[in-house]
Amino acid sequence: MDQQSILESLKDFLRLDQINTDPAALYDARSDRYKKYAKAKKVLDTPPPAAIVYPDSTEEVRTLLEFCAKNKINVIPRSGKTATEGGLENWKENSLVIDGKNLNRIIKIDTYNMQATVQAGVPLQVLEDELRKQGLTTGHSPQSKPVAQFGGLVATRSIGQFSTLYGGIEDMVAGLECVFPDGHIARIKNVPRRAGGPDIRHIVIGSEGTLCYITEVTVKLFRFYPHHKFYGYLVDNVDTGIKVLREVIVAGYRPSVARVYSEEDARQHFYHFYKNRCVLIFMAEGPAPMVKATSEGIEEAVSKYRNSIVEQVDSKLLDEWFDNLNWSQKDIDDEAQGMIDNDSHDGFTTEISADWETIPKIYHNVIDRVKKEFRKAKDLTMLGGHSSHSYINGTNMYFVYNYKIKCEPEDEMKIYHHPIQTIIVEETLKRGGSMCHHHGIGKYRSQWTKDEHGSAYYILEKLKGAFDPDMLMSYGNIFPREDGVKKYISLV
Ligand SMILES: Cc1cc2nc3c(=O)[nH]c(=O)nc-3n(C[C@H](O)[C@H](O)[C@H](O)COP(=O)(O)OP(=O)(O)OC[C@H]3O[C@@H](n4cnc5c(N)ncnc54)[C@H](O)[C@@H]3O)c2cc1C
Repeated sequence: MDQQSILESLKDFLRLDQINTDPAALYDARSDRYKKYAKAKKVLDTPPPAAIVYPDSTEEVRTLLEFCAKNKINVIPRSGKTATEGGLENWKENSLVIDGKNLNRIIKIDTYNMQATVQAGVPLQVLEDELRKQGLTTGHSPQSKPVAQFGGLVATRSIGQFSTLYGGIEDMVAGLECVFPDGHIARIKNVPRRAGGPDIRHIVIGSEGTLCYITEVTVKLFRFYPHHKFYGYLVDNVDTGIKVLREVIVAGYRPSVARVYSEEDARQHFYHFYKNRCVLIFMAEGPAPMVKATSEGIEEAVSKYRNSIVEQVDSKLLDEWFDNLNWSQKDIDDEAQGMIDNDSHDGFTTEISADWETIPKIYHNVIDRVKKEFRKAKDLTMLGGHSSHSYINGTNMYFVYNYKIKCEPEDEMKIYHHPIQTIIVEETLKRGGSMCHHHGIGKYRSQWTKDEHGSAYYILEKLKGAFDPDMLMSYGNIFPREDGVKKYISLV
Protein backbone atom coordinates (compact mmCIF):
# COMPACT_ATOMS: atom_id res chain seq x y z
CA MET A 1 0.00 0.00 0.00
CA ASP A 2 1.34 3.47 -0.77
CA GLN A 3 1.34 6.33 1.73
CA GLN A 4 -1.77 7.99 0.30
CA SER A 5 -3.88 4.82 0.48
CA ILE A 6 -2.67 4.16 4.03
CA LEU A 7 -3.64 7.66 5.13
CA GLU A 8 -7.06 7.45 3.47
CA SER A 9 -7.75 4.12 5.23
CA LEU A 10 -6.57 5.39 8.62
CA LYS A 11 -9.16 8.17 8.46
CA ASP A 12 -11.86 5.47 8.54
CA PHE A 13 -11.10 4.67 12.17
CA LEU A 14 -8.91 7.46 13.62
CA ARG A 15 -9.51 11.19 14.10
CA LEU A 16 -7.30 13.55 12.12
CA ASP A 17 -5.43 14.61 15.26
CA GLN A 18 -4.44 10.97 15.79
CA ILE A 19 -2.58 10.85 12.47
CA ASN A 20 0.70 12.74 12.19
CA THR A 21 2.30 13.31 8.78
CA ASP A 22 4.25 16.43 9.67
CA PRO A 23 7.52 16.13 7.64
CA ALA A 24 9.71 16.98 10.66
CA ALA A 25 8.00 14.30 12.77
CA LEU A 26 8.33 11.73 9.98
CA TYR A 27 12.01 12.62 9.58
CA ASP A 28 12.51 12.17 13.32
CA ALA A 29 10.78 8.76 13.13
CA ARG A 30 13.26 7.45 10.56
CA SER A 31 15.72 6.55 13.33
CA ASP A 32 16.36 6.71 17.06
CA ARG A 33 19.38 7.77 19.09
CA TYR A 34 21.62 5.20 17.40
CA LYS A 35 21.99 7.57 14.47
CA LYS A 36 21.57 10.75 16.49
CA TYR A 37 24.52 12.48 14.78
CA ALA A 38 23.41 11.65 11.21
CA LYS A 39 19.89 12.67 12.23
CA ALA A 40 21.11 16.03 13.54
CA LYS A 41 23.09 16.59 10.33
CA LYS A 42 19.99 15.69 8.22
CA VAL A 43 21.65 12.81 6.40
CA LEU A 44 19.64 9.79 7.57
CA ASP A 45 19.69 6.86 5.15
CA THR A 46 16.46 5.18 6.30
CA PRO A 47 12.98 5.79 4.81
CA PRO A 48 10.30 7.78 6.66
CA PRO A 49 7.23 5.94 7.91
CA ALA A 50 3.89 6.66 6.20
CA ALA A 51 2.54 8.18 9.43
CA ILE A 52 2.75 8.26 13.19
CA VAL A 53 -0.53 7.33 14.83
CA TYR A 54 -1.75 7.85 18.39
CA PRO A 55 -4.36 5.28 19.49
CA ASP A 56 -6.58 6.26 22.42
CA SER A 57 -7.32 2.74 23.64
CA THR A 58 -6.34 -0.91 23.50
CA GLU A 59 -9.24 -1.44 21.08
CA GLU A 60 -7.74 1.13 18.70
CA VAL A 61 -4.35 -0.60 18.95
CA ARG A 62 -6.13 -3.81 17.99
CA THR A 63 -7.82 -2.15 14.98
CA LEU A 64 -4.50 -0.67 13.84
CA LEU A 65 -2.64 -3.98 14.13
CA GLU A 66 -5.39 -5.83 12.25
CA PHE A 67 -5.28 -3.16 9.53
CA CYS A 68 -1.48 -3.52 9.26
CA ALA A 69 -1.68 -7.32 9.20
CA LYS A 70 -4.29 -7.27 6.45
CA ASN A 71 -2.28 -4.85 4.34
CA LYS A 72 1.21 -6.18 5.21
CA ILE A 73 2.39 -2.91 6.74
CA ASN A 74 5.43 -2.85 9.03
CA VAL A 75 4.61 -1.61 12.55
CA ILE A 76 6.97 0.22 14.89
CA PRO A 77 5.63 0.49 18.46
CA ARG A 78 6.93 3.67 20.09
CA SER A 79 7.00 5.12 23.62
CA GLY A 80 9.46 7.72 25.00
CA LYS A 81 11.90 7.61 22.02
CA THR A 82 15.02 7.08 24.16
CA ALA A 83 16.00 3.85 22.32
CA THR A 84 19.73 3.67 21.62
CA GLU A 85 20.18 0.53 19.49
CA GLY A 86 18.09 1.24 16.40
CA GLY A 87 14.93 -0.28 17.93
CA LEU A 88 12.87 2.61 16.55
CA GLU A 89 14.73 2.85 13.26
CA ASN A 90 12.60 2.24 10.20
CA TRP A 91 13.83 -0.25 7.60
CA LYS A 92 10.64 -0.53 5.52
CA GLU A 93 8.86 1.82 3.11
CA ASN A 94 5.51 3.10 4.42
CA SER A 95 5.69 1.68 7.93
CA LEU A 96 3.31 2.83 10.61
CA VAL A 97 4.69 4.12 13.91
CA ILE A 98 2.18 3.43 16.69
CA ASP A 99 3.01 5.92 19.43
CA GLY A 100 1.53 5.32 22.90
CA LYS A 101 1.39 8.96 24.02
CA ASN A 102 -2.42 8.96 24.34
CA LEU A 103 -2.32 5.80 26.45
CA ASN A 104 -1.29 8.02 29.33
CA ARG A 105 -3.59 7.11 32.22
CA ILE A 106 -2.49 5.91 35.64
CA ILE A 107 -5.23 3.32 36.09
CA LYS A 108 -4.75 2.39 39.72
CA ILE A 109 -2.32 2.84 42.59
CA ASP A 110 -3.12 0.00 44.98
CA THR A 111 -1.28 0.90 48.17
CA TYR A 112 -2.45 -2.15 50.13
CA ASN A 113 -1.47 -4.75 47.55
CA MET A 114 1.58 -2.68 46.63
CA GLN A 115 1.11 -2.53 42.90
CA ALA A 116 0.29 0.16 40.34
CA THR A 117 -1.34 -0.26 36.94
CA VAL A 118 -0.63 2.21 34.14
CA GLN A 119 -1.26 2.51 30.44
CA ALA A 120 1.88 1.96 28.38
CA GLY A 121 2.36 5.63 27.48
CA VAL A 122 2.73 6.83 31.07
CA PRO A 123 6.26 8.18 31.63
CA LEU A 124 8.01 6.50 34.55
CA GLN A 125 8.68 9.92 36.12
CA VAL A 126 4.96 10.72 36.16
CA LEU A 127 4.08 7.54 38.07
CA GLU A 128 7.09 7.96 40.33
CA ASP A 129 6.03 11.54 41.22
CA GLU A 130 2.53 10.33 42.11
CA LEU A 131 3.92 7.49 44.20
CA ARG A 132 6.32 9.71 46.14
CA LYS A 133 3.33 11.76 47.35
CA GLN A 134 2.23 8.55 49.06
CA GLY A 135 5.67 7.55 50.34
CA LEU A 136 6.10 4.86 47.69
CA THR A 137 8.39 4.11 44.75
CA THR A 138 8.62 1.70 41.83
CA GLY A 139 12.32 1.28 42.63
CA HIS A 140 12.96 1.68 38.87
CA SER A 141 15.34 4.47 37.98
CA PRO A 142 17.03 4.25 34.59
CA GLN A 143 18.92 7.41 33.64
CA SER A 144 16.18 8.04 31.07
CA LYS A 145 13.47 8.01 33.79
CA PRO A 146 12.20 11.57 33.03
CA VAL A 147 11.41 10.58 29.43
CA ALA A 148 11.02 6.80 29.04
CA GLN A 149 7.49 5.35 29.20
CA PHE A 150 6.26 2.02 30.45
CA GLY A 151 5.75 0.40 27.02
CA GLY A 152 9.38 1.02 26.07
CA LEU A 153 10.73 0.22 29.53
CA VAL A 154 9.12 -3.21 29.44
CA ALA A 155 9.82 -3.87 25.73
CA THR A 156 13.58 -3.24 26.19
CA ARG A 157 13.95 -5.13 29.49
CA SER A 158 15.30 -1.96 31.05
CA ILE A 159 17.16 -1.67 34.33
CA GLY A 160 17.55 1.20 36.78
CA GLN A 161 20.32 2.64 38.89
CA PHE A 162 19.04 0.98 42.09
CA SER A 163 18.86 -2.47 40.52
CA THR A 164 20.96 -4.32 43.05
CA LEU A 165 18.20 -3.77 45.60
CA TYR A 166 15.04 -3.62 43.46
CA GLY A 167 16.00 -5.67 40.38
CA GLY A 168 15.39 -4.94 36.71
CA ILE A 169 11.98 -4.30 35.15
CA GLU A 170 11.55 -8.08 34.79
CA ASP A 171 11.48 -8.35 38.61
CA MET A 172 8.96 -5.52 38.89
CA VAL A 173 6.28 -6.38 36.33
CA ALA A 174 3.39 -8.21 38.02
CA GLY A 175 1.26 -8.46 34.89
CA LEU A 176 0.45 -6.68 31.64
CA GLU A 177 -1.82 -6.35 28.65
CA CYS A 178 -0.62 -6.60 25.06
CA VAL A 179 -2.05 -6.91 21.58
CA PHE A 180 -0.70 -9.34 18.99
CA PRO A 181 -0.47 -8.68 15.23
CA ASP A 182 -3.62 -10.80 14.58
CA GLY A 183 -5.60 -8.54 16.94
CA HIS A 184 -5.65 -10.89 19.93
CA ILE A 185 -5.60 -8.99 23.23
CA ALA A 186 -3.80 -10.92 25.99
CA ARG A 187 -4.03 -9.93 29.66
CA ILE A 188 -1.46 -11.53 31.93
CA LYS A 189 -2.93 -11.33 35.42
CA ASN A 190 -1.28 -9.77 38.45
CA VAL A 191 -0.39 -12.37 41.06
CA PRO A 192 2.54 -12.53 43.51
CA ARG A 193 3.80 -15.76 41.93
CA ARG A 194 2.43 -18.74 40.07
CA ALA A 195 3.51 -22.05 38.62
CA GLY A 196 0.88 -22.15 35.90
CA GLY A 197 3.29 -23.16 33.17
CA PRO A 198 6.20 -21.09 31.86
CA ASP A 199 6.26 -17.45 32.93
CA ILE A 200 4.58 -15.84 29.91
CA ARG A 201 5.43 -12.32 31.09
CA HIS A 202 8.91 -13.01 29.79
CA ILE A 203 7.70 -13.52 26.23
CA VAL A 204 6.66 -9.89 26.25
CA ILE A 205 9.35 -8.32 28.48
CA GLY A 206 12.33 -7.64 26.22
CA SER A 207 10.48 -8.40 22.97
CA GLU A 208 11.44 -4.94 21.57
CA GLY A 209 8.25 -4.51 19.57
CA THR A 210 8.82 -7.70 17.59
CA LEU A 211 5.96 -9.84 18.93
CA CYS A 212 3.19 -7.59 20.23
CA TYR A 213 2.17 -4.08 21.28
CA ILE A 214 2.18 -3.51 25.06
CA THR A 215 -0.82 -1.44 26.19
CA GLU A 216 -0.90 -1.75 29.99
CA VAL A 217 1.59 -2.64 32.72
CA THR A 218 1.25 -3.44 36.42
CA VAL A 219 4.38 -2.98 38.52
CA LYS A 220 5.14 -3.80 42.13
CA LEU A 221 5.63 -0.98 44.62
CA PHE A 222 8.00 -0.40 47.51
CA ARG A 223 8.06 1.97 50.45
CA PHE A 224 10.29 4.92 49.74
CA TYR A 225 12.93 5.56 52.41
CA PRO A 226 14.38 9.03 51.97
CA HIS A 227 17.42 8.36 54.15
CA HIS A 228 20.27 6.69 52.38
CA LYS A 229 24.00 6.58 52.79
CA PHE A 230 26.59 6.93 50.02
CA TYR A 231 30.03 5.38 50.14
CA GLY A 232 32.78 6.28 47.69
CA TYR A 233 36.40 5.15 47.40
CA LEU A 234 39.32 5.67 45.07
CA VAL A 235 40.72 2.28 44.11
CA ASP A 236 43.96 1.16 42.44
CA ASN A 237 42.38 -0.73 39.56
CA VAL A 238 39.12 -1.99 38.07
CA ASP A 239 39.78 -5.61 39.01
CA THR A 240 39.97 -4.78 42.72
CA GLY A 241 36.84 -2.66 42.43
CA ILE A 242 35.00 -5.63 40.93
CA LYS A 243 36.31 -7.87 43.71
CA VAL A 244 34.91 -5.50 46.34
CA LEU A 245 31.55 -5.41 44.56
CA ARG A 246 31.54 -9.21 44.58
CA GLU A 247 32.50 -9.38 48.24
CA VAL A 248 29.53 -7.19 49.23
CA ILE A 249 27.00 -9.04 47.08
CA VAL A 250 28.21 -12.55 47.89
CA ALA A 251 28.14 -11.73 51.61
CA GLY A 252 24.40 -11.22 51.14
CA TYR A 253 24.12 -7.41 51.22
CA ARG A 254 22.02 -5.49 48.73
CA PRO A 255 23.17 -1.89 48.43
CA SER A 256 20.86 -0.16 45.92
CA VAL A 257 23.85 1.24 44.04
CA ALA A 258 27.06 -0.76 43.58
CA ARG A 259 29.44 0.54 40.90
CA VAL A 260 33.05 0.69 39.89
CA TYR A 261 34.41 3.09 37.23
CA SER A 262 37.67 2.70 35.31
CA GLU A 263 40.06 5.67 35.61
CA GLU A 264 39.04 6.96 32.16
CA ASP A 265 35.33 6.73 32.88
CA ALA A 266 35.87 8.17 36.37
CA ARG A 267 37.50 11.22 34.75
CA GLN A 268 34.33 12.16 32.93
CA HIS A 269 32.06 11.60 35.95
CA PHE A 270 34.24 12.54 38.92
CA TYR A 271 36.94 14.81 37.47
CA HIS A 272 36.84 16.98 40.64
CA PHE A 273 38.00 14.22 42.99
CA TYR A 274 39.08 11.06 41.12
CA LYS A 275 42.87 11.75 41.22
CA ASN A 276 43.54 9.46 38.24
CA ARG A 277 42.11 6.47 40.09
CA CYS A 278 39.16 4.14 39.64
CA VAL A 279 36.08 5.08 41.65
CA LEU A 280 34.03 2.61 43.68
CA ILE A 281 30.53 3.61 44.84
CA PHE A 282 27.84 2.12 47.05
CA MET A 283 24.53 3.37 48.32
CA ALA A 284 22.86 1.78 51.34
CA GLU A 285 19.09 2.28 51.21
CA GLY A 286 15.96 1.05 53.02
CA PRO A 287 14.68 1.04 56.60
CA ALA A 288 17.27 2.37 59.11
CA PRO A 289 18.40 -1.07 60.43
CA MET A 290 18.88 -2.25 56.85
CA VAL A 291 20.96 0.83 55.99
CA LYS A 292 23.08 0.19 59.08
CA ALA A 293 23.64 -3.49 58.26
CA THR A 294 24.36 -2.74 54.57
CA SER A 295 26.78 -0.01 55.59
CA GLU A 296 28.63 -2.42 57.87
CA GLY A 297 28.76 -4.98 55.07
CA ILE A 298 30.27 -2.41 52.69
CA GLU A 299 32.83 -1.27 55.25
CA GLU A 300 33.82 -4.86 56.02
CA ALA A 301 34.27 -5.72 52.32
CA VAL A 302 36.30 -2.58 51.71
CA SER A 303 38.55 -3.31 54.70
CA LYS A 304 39.42 -6.72 53.22
CA TYR A 305 40.88 -4.93 50.21
CA ARG A 306 42.33 -1.96 52.11
CA ASN A 307 45.74 -2.31 50.47
CA SER A 308 44.21 -1.33 47.13
CA ILE A 309 41.91 1.36 48.49
CA VAL A 310 43.57 4.74 48.07
CA GLU A 311 41.15 6.84 50.09
CA GLN A 312 37.49 7.33 51.00
CA VAL A 313 35.55 10.08 49.23
CA ASP A 314 33.29 12.62 50.93
CA SER A 315 29.81 11.13 50.46
CA LYS A 316 28.31 14.60 49.79
CA LEU A 317 30.19 14.67 46.47
CA LEU A 318 28.43 11.50 45.43
CA ASP A 319 25.01 12.73 46.51
CA GLU A 320 25.48 15.81 44.28
CA TRP A 321 26.68 13.72 41.36
CA PHE A 322 23.78 11.27 41.66
CA ASP A 323 21.21 14.05 41.83
CA ASN A 324 22.26 15.25 38.37
CA LEU A 325 22.66 11.93 36.60
CA ASN A 326 19.29 11.58 34.87
CA TRP A 327 18.63 12.93 31.39
CA SER A 328 15.61 15.13 30.75
CA GLN A 329 14.05 15.83 27.34
CA LYS A 330 15.88 19.19 27.47
CA ASP A 331 19.24 17.43 27.85
CA ILE A 332 18.41 15.24 24.85
CA ASP A 333 17.29 18.25 22.77
CA ASP A 334 20.36 20.29 23.78
CA GLU A 335 22.66 17.47 22.70
CA ALA A 336 20.92 17.32 19.31
CA GLN A 337 21.14 21.11 18.94
CA GLY A 338 24.85 21.02 19.79
CA MET A 339 25.38 18.48 17.01
CA ILE A 340 23.36 20.57 14.55
CA ASP A 341 25.30 23.71 15.41
CA ASN A 342 28.88 22.50 15.34
CA ASP A 343 29.83 19.52 17.45
CA SER A 344 31.82 16.84 15.69
CA HIS A 345 32.32 14.71 18.76
CA ASP A 346 30.19 11.76 19.80
CA GLY A 347 30.09 9.18 22.54
CA PHE A 348 28.55 5.76 22.70
CA THR A 349 28.19 2.80 25.00
CA THR A 350 27.89 -0.97 24.79
CA GLU A 351 26.74 -2.91 27.84
CA ILE A 352 27.42 -6.61 28.35
CA SER A 353 27.38 -9.05 31.27
CA ALA A 354 29.30 -12.10 32.46
CA ASP A 355 30.21 -13.98 35.62
CA TRP A 356 32.58 -12.47 38.20
CA GLU A 357 35.60 -14.35 36.94
CA THR A 358 35.08 -13.49 33.29
CA ILE A 359 34.14 -9.82 33.43
CA PRO A 360 37.66 -8.47 34.14
CA LYS A 361 39.06 -10.62 31.30
CA ILE A 362 36.51 -9.25 28.86
CA TYR A 363 37.22 -5.73 30.07
CA HIS A 364 40.99 -5.90 29.57
CA ASN A 365 40.85 -7.81 26.28
CA VAL A 366 38.40 -5.31 24.83
CA ILE A 367 40.48 -2.31 25.87
CA ASP A 368 43.68 -3.93 24.49
CA ARG A 369 42.07 -4.96 21.21
CA VAL A 370 40.43 -1.59 20.61
CA LYS A 371 43.75 0.17 21.17
CA LYS A 372 45.57 -2.21 18.81
CA GLU A 373 43.00 -3.05 16.15
CA PHE A 374 40.61 -0.13 15.82
CA ARG A 375 41.98 1.80 12.87
CA LYS A 376 40.61 5.12 14.13
CA ALA A 377 41.99 4.65 17.66
CA LYS A 378 43.80 7.98 17.43
CA ASP A 379 40.42 9.75 17.26
CA LEU A 380 39.32 8.28 20.60
CA THR A 381 39.03 10.87 23.34
CA MET A 382 37.93 8.35 25.95
CA LEU A 383 37.83 4.56 26.26
CA GLY A 384 36.82 2.89 29.50
CA GLY A 385 33.81 1.58 31.34
CA HIS A 386 32.01 0.83 34.54
CA SER A 387 30.20 -2.00 36.23
CA SER A 388 26.85 -0.76 37.50
CA HIS A 389 24.51 -3.74 38.00
CA SER A 390 25.61 -6.71 40.08
CA TYR A 391 24.12 -10.15 40.81
CA ILE A 392 25.11 -13.08 42.99
CA ASN A 393 26.87 -14.75 40.04
CA GLY A 394 28.33 -11.82 38.15
CA THR A 395 28.00 -8.26 36.96
CA ASN A 396 27.73 -6.07 33.88
CA MET A 397 30.30 -3.94 32.09
CA TYR A 398 29.20 -0.72 30.46
CA PHE A 399 31.86 0.16 27.92
CA VAL A 400 32.02 3.87 27.16
CA TYR A 401 33.86 5.34 24.17
CA ASN A 402 34.01 8.89 22.89
CA TYR A 403 35.65 10.09 19.71
CA LYS A 404 36.21 12.99 17.35
CA ILE A 405 34.25 12.40 14.18
CA LYS A 406 36.54 12.68 11.18
CA CYS A 407 34.29 11.33 8.46
CA GLU A 408 31.00 12.14 6.77
CA PRO A 409 28.18 12.17 9.36
CA GLU A 410 26.33 9.35 7.56
CA ASP A 411 29.37 7.04 8.00
CA GLU A 412 30.00 7.75 11.67
CA MET A 413 28.38 4.65 13.14
CA LYS A 414 29.94 2.34 10.57
CA ILE A 415 33.43 3.77 10.96
CA TYR A 416 33.56 4.47 14.69
CA HIS A 417 30.88 2.69 16.64
CA HIS A 418 30.41 -0.59 14.82
CA PRO A 419 34.07 -1.75 14.83
CA ILE A 420 34.35 -1.06 18.58
CA GLN A 421 31.01 -2.72 19.30
CA THR A 422 32.14 -5.73 17.22
CA ILE A 423 35.23 -6.19 19.40
CA ILE A 424 33.13 -5.91 22.58
CA VAL A 425 30.54 -8.41 21.36
CA GLU A 426 33.16 -10.87 20.06
CA GLU A 427 35.15 -10.82 23.30
CA THR A 428 31.97 -11.25 25.33
CA LEU A 429 30.44 -14.09 23.33
CA LYS A 430 33.77 -15.91 23.09
CA ARG A 431 33.84 -16.11 26.89
CA GLY A 432 30.23 -17.09 27.42
CA GLY A 433 28.89 -13.68 28.48
CA SER A 434 25.82 -11.88 27.16
CA MET A 435 26.39 -9.26 24.48
CA CYS A 436 23.49 -7.17 25.71
CA HIS A 437 22.81 -6.30 29.33
CA HIS A 438 19.99 -3.74 29.15
CA HIS A 439 19.71 -1.53 26.08
CA GLY A 440 18.14 -4.22 23.93
CA ILE A 441 19.49 -5.79 20.75
CA GLY A 442 17.67 -3.36 18.47
CA LYS A 443 18.92 -3.58 14.91
CA TYR A 444 22.62 -3.10 15.44
CA ARG A 445 23.36 -6.16 17.52
CA SER A 446 20.90 -8.42 15.66
CA GLN A 447 23.68 -9.85 13.49
CA TRP A 448 24.86 -11.68 16.65
CA THR A 449 21.45 -12.76 18.06
CA LYS A 450 21.98 -16.34 16.86
CA ASP A 451 25.43 -16.47 18.50
CA GLU A 452 24.04 -14.95 21.68
CA HIS A 453 21.41 -17.69 22.03
CA GLY A 454 23.08 -20.67 20.34
CA SER A 455 20.80 -23.71 20.30
CA ALA A 456 18.16 -21.77 22.27
CA TYR A 457 17.66 -19.41 19.32
CA TYR A 458 15.21 -22.13 18.21
CA ILE A 459 12.82 -20.95 20.94
CA LEU A 460 12.98 -17.31 19.89
CA GLU A 461 12.53 -18.13 16.21
CA LYS A 462 9.45 -20.27 16.95
CA LEU A 463 7.92 -17.47 19.01
CA LYS A 464 8.41 -15.01 16.15
CA GLY A 465 6.96 -17.50 13.68
CA ALA A 466 3.94 -18.11 15.89
CA PHE A 467 3.05 -14.54 16.80
CA ASP A 468 4.30 -12.57 13.81
CA PRO A 469 4.56 -14.97 10.88
CA ASP A 470 4.58 -12.16 8.30
CA MET A 471 7.42 -10.30 10.05
CA LEU A 472 5.40 -7.12 10.37
CA MET A 473 6.45 -6.05 13.84
CA SER A 474 9.62 -3.93 14.13
CA TYR A 475 11.35 -5.42 11.09
CA GLY A 476 15.05 -5.90 11.84
CA ASN A 477 14.86 -5.79 15.65
CA ILE A 478 16.34 -8.79 17.50
CA PHE A 479 15.83 -11.15 14.52
CA PRO A 480 18.61 -10.69 11.92
CA ARG A 481 17.46 -9.53 8.46
CA GLU A 482 20.02 -9.90 5.69
CA ASP A 483 18.69 -7.09 3.51
CA GLY A 484 18.82 -4.55 6.34
CA VAL A 485 22.25 -5.70 7.48
CA LYS A 486 23.58 -5.29 3.91
CA LYS A 487 22.02 -1.90 3.47
CA TYR A 488 22.51 -0.27 6.85
CA ILE A 489 25.25 -2.12 8.73
CA SER A 490 27.78 -3.38 6.17
CA LEU A 491 31.14 -1.81 6.78
CA VAL A 492 32.37 0.79 4.33
C1 LIG B 1 20.16 9.34 28.29
C2 LIG B 1 19.71 7.91 28.30
C3 LIG B 1 19.88 7.15 29.43
C4 LIG B 1 19.47 5.82 29.45
N1 LIG B 1 19.60 5.09 30.59
C5 LIG B 1 19.16 3.83 30.64
C6 LIG B 1 19.24 3.08 31.85
O1 LIG B 1 19.71 3.57 32.88
N2 LIG B 1 18.76 1.82 31.85
C7 LIG B 1 18.19 1.27 30.74
O2 LIG B 1 17.76 0.11 30.79
N3 LIG B 1 18.11 1.95 29.58
C8 LIG B 1 18.56 3.20 29.51
N4 LIG B 1 18.47 3.90 28.34
C9 LIG B 1 17.86 3.28 27.17
C10 LIG B 1 16.34 3.56 27.07
O3 LIG B 1 15.98 4.67 27.84
C11 LIG B 1 15.55 2.36 27.53
O4 LIG B 1 15.73 1.33 26.60
C12 LIG B 1 14.05 2.62 27.71
O5 LIG B 1 13.50 1.46 28.29
C13 LIG B 1 13.31 2.94 26.43
O6 LIG B 1 12.02 3.42 26.77
P1 LIG B 1 11.22 4.40 25.81
O7 LIG B 1 9.91 4.66 26.43
O8 LIG B 1 12.01 5.58 25.48
O9 LIG B 1 11.01 3.46 24.53
P2 LIG B 1 11.24 3.76 23.00
O10 LIG B 1 12.59 4.32 22.79
O11 LIG B 1 10.12 4.49 22.42
O12 LIG B 1 11.22 2.26 22.42
C14 LIG B 1 12.20 1.32 22.78
C15 LIG B 1 11.91 -0.04 22.12
O13 LIG B 1 10.72 -0.58 22.69
C16 LIG B 1 9.74 -0.80 21.68
N5 LIG B 1 8.46 -0.35 22.23
C17 LIG B 1 8.17 0.89 22.68
N6 LIG B 1 6.91 0.95 23.13
C18 LIG B 1 6.38 -0.28 22.96
C19 LIG B 1 5.10 -0.84 23.22
N7 LIG B 1 4.12 -0.13 23.75
N8 LIG B 1 4.91 -2.14 22.91
C20 LIG B 1 5.90 -2.89 22.36
N9 LIG B 1 7.12 -2.41 22.09
C21 LIG B 1 7.37 -1.12 22.39
C22 LIG B 1 10.17 0.07 20.50
O14 LIG B 1 9.71 -0.45 19.27
C23 LIG B 1 11.68 0.03 20.62
O15 LIG B 1 12.20 -1.13 20.04
C24 LIG B 1 18.90 5.23 28.28
C25 LIG B 1 18.73 6.02 27.13
C26 LIG B 1 19.12 7.34 27.14
C27 LIG B 1 18.89 8.15 25.90
